[in-house]
Amino acid sequence: MNNSNKIYDLVVIGAGSGGVRAARISASYGAKVAVIEEDRPGGTCVLRGCIPKKLMVYASEFNKQMSDAKKYGWKIDECSHDWDLLNKSLKEELDRLAGIYDNILKNSGCTIIKGVANFISPTRVKVNDNVIEGKKILIATGGHPWTPDISGVKEHAITSNEALKLPKLPKNISILGSGYIAIEFAFIFRGFGSNVNLIYRSDLPLRGFDNEIRGCLEKELLNKGVKIYPKTKIKKVSKNSKLEIELDDGRILSSDELLVATGRKANTDNLKLENIGVEISHDRSILVNENSRTNIETVFAIGDVTDRINLTPVALGEGHAFADREFGNKKRFFEYDNVPCAVFSQPPISSVGLTEEEAVNQGINCEIYTSNFKPLKNTISGNTERSFIKLIVRKEDNVVIGAHMIGSDAPEIMQSIAIAVKAKLKKSDFDLTVGIHPSAAEEFVTMRSQRD
Ligand code: NDP
Repeated sequence: MNNSNKIYDLVVIGAGSGGVRAARISASYGAKVAVIEEDRPGGTCVLRGCIPKKLMVYASEFNKQMSDAKKYGWKIDECSHDWDLLNKSLKEELDRLAGIYDNILKNSGCTIIKGVANFISPTRVKVNDNVIEGKKILIATGGHPWTPDISGVKEHAITSNEALKLPKLPKNISILGSGYIAIEFAFIFRGFGSNVNLIYRSDLPLRGFDNEIRGCLEKELLNKGVKIYPKTKIKKVSKNSKLEIELDDGRILSSDELLVATGRKANTDNLKLENIGVEISHDRSILVNENSRTNIETVFAIGDVTDRINLTPVALGEGHAFADREFGNKKRFFEYDNVPCAVFSQPPISSVGLTEEEAVNQGINCEIYTSNFKPLKNTISGNTERSFIKLIVRKEDNVVIGAHMIGSDAPEIMQSIAIAVKAKLKKSDFDLTVGIHPSAAEEFVTMRSQRD
């Protein structure tokens, strides 16, 4: 279709979670919307992130579940894993989801344009020699894995993009970093039986999370047999028959793969933002105000490309609020406080609100309640995995300002706790709530004594 002479109310660049939500809701208010995407619709979350990763978490957990089943009387004589079949199943599911995203856009009346967009004016972008014009343009191009400049890394390392579709399971894998992605993949590959080295520069993994949770995570990594290399950097990487990874203390690790998970950067390089003077930060993410508007009146940005909180539900919320404000005549803003999150380690971690360290740094006088326990299921199975939960309560008014958990089902439990924290409920409200017995979740309403 020739779009040269059409003027859209909204042109969205990027059909990931945030872009699709903004396009669909804007169209539902009657806006004429075009969505430009170079790949299939779906974006990082559906095609290269959350969804395939979580499916791989499930796949890798069966190993532990089968061993847990034995003391419950199950006889499992033969057990092996078919990597090709897993890859096939993942591909089929991702194809299905990309199709659903495609349909969502089409059914909501949006025009999908395939290609790479770059700006030629504040209301016009060029895509494959076609000029697309929009009264407003929303950038929702997401981000990509970033790798540090270490000798041999660019040539020999993989990122999360490749880790989600390796042609065969690596016998040995080294992972650089200890953020969300590094931790999740360390447990995934260990679950499948790979030997895993986790190399990170801090003293504890998962910087930014509550320190006690980080300590428990370190124990679980060791418990599962992940070899950890804290306070360590990679000096260089070379390849003989295997990868040789030289550490800054002189040790050399031999691995089939090196996964580098050292953060992500905004996808702004192909947009030619300089043509219209859109302001970007030192790390090339797009600067926006509370309306998600850039310094250019007609140009907006949401999601990871703005590097605010890089989580799918945040991009969805920003996209929805943008559509409500710009086309639905509702002054609705996304709220960035108390955004819950989860790391799909094994066991998983989930949090909402302040960590103890953040509360102390803000000068808040707190009461801390903790519970460290062996889940009932693990009593018979002999599985040594434990659970730990923590509530941070502001002393002045008894309001719960932080909740943290590592343990089975932590994200499922934390979603409901997040409602209580968002609603600024008090510890006394938690105490009045009757527990569901026997469950791990009941610990959140039965903790009575403060930590020493
Ligand atoms: P993170 O920012 O979470 O972690 C980056 C890691 O890389 C940290 O351990 C950091 O160390 C380390 N690092 C950074 N630079 C260097 C360097 N030059 N040399 C050595 N180590 C370095 O990034 P991820 O890539 O893990 O994930 C990107 C984002 O994607 C996350 O922040 C999150 O927003 C999102 N995500 C969310 C998931 C979820 O919700 N479950 C899952 C996956 C991703 P240090 O801590 O010392 O700075």
